[in-house]
Amino acid sequence: MVTVERIDPEKCLGCMRCVEVCPMDVLRVGSGDRPVVRYREDCQCCYLCVMQCPSGAIEVMPWRAFPVGRIYGAFKPGS
Ligand code: SF4
Ligand code: SF4
Repeated sequence: MVTVERIDPEKCLGCMRCVEVCPMDVLRVGSGDRPVVRYREDCQCCYLCVMQCPSGAIEVMPWRAFPVGRIYGAFKPGS
């Protein structure tokens, strides 16, 4: 499961709001006073980091968290 994709270093202001609001501790303070995606597999795609980011630096990709093939495969007719 992959949801939070990347933090654009060109856009990031280093405010760490994203690190503070993430309920799953996916984001951590990295070197150079910039956040890093540390535990990507724990991301719940809640968009709190995106909503709090003042510069639009965070990309979250929900479709990668719910692959269509896997969903249909889980619900087979008649099973
Ligand atoms: S989408 Fe939610 S869980 Fe994922 S990194 Fe952002 S705040 Fe954390
Ligand atoms: S909230 Fe946005 S600008 Fe602030 S540290 Fe996180 S990614 Fe950078």
